[in-house]
Amino acid sequence: MTAISIIESQANEVKLPRWLRECLINQQSESNEALICQAFNFAYELHEGQYRKSGEPYIAHPIAVASLLRDLGGDSVTIAAGFLHDVVEDTEVTPEEIEAMFGVQVRQLVEGVTKLSKFNFSSNTERQAENFRKMFLAMATDIRVIVVKLADRLHNMRTLNHLKPEKQRRISRETRDIFAPLANRLGIGRFKWELEDLCFKYLEPEAYEEIKALIAERRADREARIATVTETLRSRLEKLNVKVIELKGRPKHLYGIYQKMQRQQKEFSQIYDIAAFRIIVESNEECYRSLAVVHDAFKPIPGRFKDYIGLPKPNRYQSLHTTVVGSNGRPIEVQIRTMEMHQIAEYGIAAHWKYKETGSSNQMLSPEDSKFAWLRQLLEWQKDVNDAQDYMENVKDNLYEDDVYVFTPDGDVIPLAHGATPVDFAYRIHSEVGNHMKGARVNGRWSVLSKPLENGDIVEIVTQKNSHPSLDWLNFVVSPTARTRIRQWYKRSHRNENIARGKELLEKEMGKSGFDSLLKSEPMQIVTQRCNYHSVDDMLAALGYGEITQNHVVNRLRDVVKEQQPVEEIKVSTEEDVEISNYIPHNKEKQKGKSPIVGGEGMLYHIAGCCKPLPGESIIGVVTLSSRGISIHRQGCHNVEQVPGERIIPVNWNDGTEETKPLTYPVDIQIEAMDRVGVLKDILARLSDRGVNIRNAGVRTGKNKPALISLSLDIRDRQQLEYIFQRIKSMSDILNIRRVIDSGDR
Ligand code: MN
Repeated sequence: MTAISIIESQANEVKLPRWLRECLINQQSESNEALICQAFNFAYELHEGQYRKSGEPYIAHPIAVASLLRDLGGDSVTIAAGFLHDVVEDTEVTPEEIEAMFGVQVRQLVEGVTKLSKFNFSSNTERQAENFRKMFLAMATDIRVIVVKLADRLHNMRTLNHLKPEKQRRISRETRDIFAPLANRLGIGRFKWELEDLCFKYLEPEAYEEIKALIAERRADREARIATVTETLRSRLEKLNVKVIELKGRPKHLYGIYQKMQRQQKEFSQIYDIAAFRIIVESNEECYRSLAVVHDAFKPIPGRFKDYIGLPKPNRYQSLHTTVVGSNGRPIEVQIRTMEMHQIAEYGIAAHWKYKETGSSNQMLSPEDSKFAWLRQLLEWQKDVNDAQDYMENVKDNLYEDDVYVFTPDGDVIPLAHGATPVDFAYRIHSEVGNHMKGARVNGRWSVLSKPLENGDIVEIVTQKNSHPSLDWLNFVVSPTARTRIRQWYKRSHRNENIARGKELLEKEMGKSGFDSLLKSEPMQIVTQRCNYHSVDDMLAALGYGEITQNHVVNRLRDVVKEQQPVEEIKVSTEEDVEISNYIPHNKEKQKGKSPIVGGEGMLYHIAGCCKPLPGESIIGVVTLSSRGISIHRQGCHNVEQVPGERIIPVNWNDGTEETKPLTYPVDIQIEAMDRVGVLKDILARLSDRGVNIRNAGVRTGKNKPALISLSLDIRDRQQLEYIFQRIKSMSDILNIRRVIDSGDR
């Protein structure tokens, strides 16, 4: 059937809008109009024989939807999708066929709208409604899907009177909670007002009729007032050469009046008495000049002026708002804007289209162009935020940008993080649901538990009393809650295994001998407290589970033992003076670098046994009362404190002794170590690696105490000693290492 014959045959049954007739008559092949006409023809044939509740042929609905989209300035892809939006749902056509005939974009729009239409938005809480709106935005990778859906909803609302009251109310609630706010969010004021008024009509029929009647009653009065104000403003603006594109009293929409009455607790007359005007001019500059005219002609009410041109709303709305007092003392609300701002206020994101299109007669935008323009615009809004409240809302939305929205079998929407799996969903419902989860059905089919959920999935969790979480789940869950709950469950239920494993790990680290008594020791109790566990077993379980490491425990233990070490533990008898005893040569000889000591030339010297100084440490000479010459002490040795000044001789180490055979000096050290078999052997091995001679070695062990190892070493200088300390300290069993000076010396 050709397009024209459709027009003729249907002339009586369906009235085709003029634009569509012209399109059908004038279309050229390969043009954008051709796509639209082809979509119309296809929809027409598919819906043939179908009727709406109103008795009209079904095709009237797609025609109305396509017309709304065309009025918004929709591109050919969107208008074509408007014609086809119900064919997948209501006829035998598959998405693949649509793609073959109309291209992938039309298919995507039709599929998107079909998917949205399947949901039953039985929301009764504001929170759920918000989740639905977010899901919509998240699902619609192409914003045009939402606009087609809004046009579909608007026409359904317009023809709602043919349905049963119960259905009218359900659809109206859904529209009020989800679709009108979405239209507002997309800035399509035109859709928003009409949707709201239609919902109002079905949800609050009495209030609606009352307000409607009141408006009708006062029409004459209102029109007279409006005419006077219009006259005044028009003549004043003309005097100033402001070119006025439009100046008229605008009707306030019914729901807006109702909301204002509710919000401000005012009578209808108080709200309604406010006359509302809109002035449309050519430029921003003229907007401000018009404002001056309004403020000059009438007295402005302080605090009511708002500059949304300088500071646009997040949905890009721009205008100047002011309220002035009319000659009869009644307030007049005035909006001033340019044509472009007006377009944006009425058509939102679609305004962009409309502009470009009208620019060049019949040529429409390429679908690509407009699609990206929309997305771009949507992103821009999110940056364009001035109001703190709006800002918060935007920030929240951004946070949820990557969320997926899925349904419970009862139809509640659950927002989840991107990549969330049935397991995340289960734990989101309740931890017990997660802990006893046996499997999951997604859209009625068993699903792999690790498979990420998609927007709109209906998820049902099947639980069983003796099912329990698996550690594998940790590999794929994305929500912190699920992760924590799985761990908790595992910890609780595998406590004994974890304790045994923790014990094993710690034992390996610290050595077997005395390990059990070490576990019961006081230092271990302190470590437990410091790691915030109630008992040693709790700590071992945490270790076994991997919440803490054995190194962590050993380090803490080392600290505790160190703190607790009583000072009297180090009791070493003052040994005899060291046998390194020599004669300090005179200057000449010294230059040859033969002596390690400088100062006290010509005298005998020996290294004091009490403090055993090493090259590199500050020293002092003390003339002994015996015949043994000078005794070399460390600076600050307590044995020197009482010595009278005349017996003190300043001495230094000779730095130039490299040529002589390196001398060594005795040093005593003490090492506390975990009582591990072989720890002494390991220490000695490390020392002999460095070529250090060991004169003496001894080990003391005690119940519940670390092993105490005493060593006497031959050391060249301070540097070597420091190096050895480091080497020994780096062994994991070592709790402490210190140099033994003399009892009471520090
Ligand atoms: Mn529809």
